[in-house]
Amino acid sequence: MLQDFKNFLFPKLCACCEAVLLKEEVLICTFCRNELPLYPNFFDDEHDLHKILYGRVLVDEAASLFYFEKKGIIQNLIHDLKYRGNKELSYHLGEWLGDTLVDAGWALKIDTVIPVPLHNKRMRERGYNQVEGFGKSIAKKLSADYNDRLLKRRSNSKTQVFKNRLARSEVVQNHFYVNDHADFSSQNILLVDDLVTTGATLEACYLALKDVSIHKLSIATIAISK
Ligand SMILES: [Zn+2]
Repeated sequence: MLQDFKNFLFPKLCACCEAVLLKEEVLICTFCRNELPLYPNFFDDEHDLHKILYGRVLVDEAASLFYFEKKGIIQNLIHDLKYRGNKELSYHLGEWLGDTLVDAGWALKIDTVIPVPLHNKRMRERGYNQVEGFGKSIAKKLSADYNDRLLKRRSNSKTQVFKNRLARSEVVQNHFYVNDHADFSSQNILLVDDLVTTGATLEACYLALKDVSIHKLSIATIAISK
């Protein structure tokens, strides 16, 4: 009863279209759920991440839940995650992908899940990393560790002054660093991010992780650009 009254005062809205959710709907309304552009090859060899990162990152396995298109419903969903503090949605999407990965036998393939870190400044502004719930849920499903301390992001205040491409790519490489030099040489790492477009961020994370010479790197994202 009290919950009903609370829902009346503060109705829960769909993360994609902001329609008021019905009691039985969870985070995304039925209409939007049917419209979600599910990524078709979400974890096989045809995954676009292999093509995007070809020659730059040695990717073992790759998985994504959705296709991302500008002005599409996934843009709203990512916006809800990033700027409206919808942590519950982050966990929900992680459980969704996590279940599928368990079915695909990933529990044996992954030791540790690592989120792409946020800038400290953004972390202070938002108070949370939008992929934290996604990564934690996947780690739980796969019985893997979740580690958000190993990989860190530098503040990027001086990075945009370089004009030529080479200098810029060196700068991108230095965006991340590892915070711990423990032995990761037998570890199969799963790096998680919200959206992949050019793959520059994932490449920068990969280059930083080389410092601890991990065994294999797999990648899971909520969405991937079409
Ligand atoms: Zn909706």
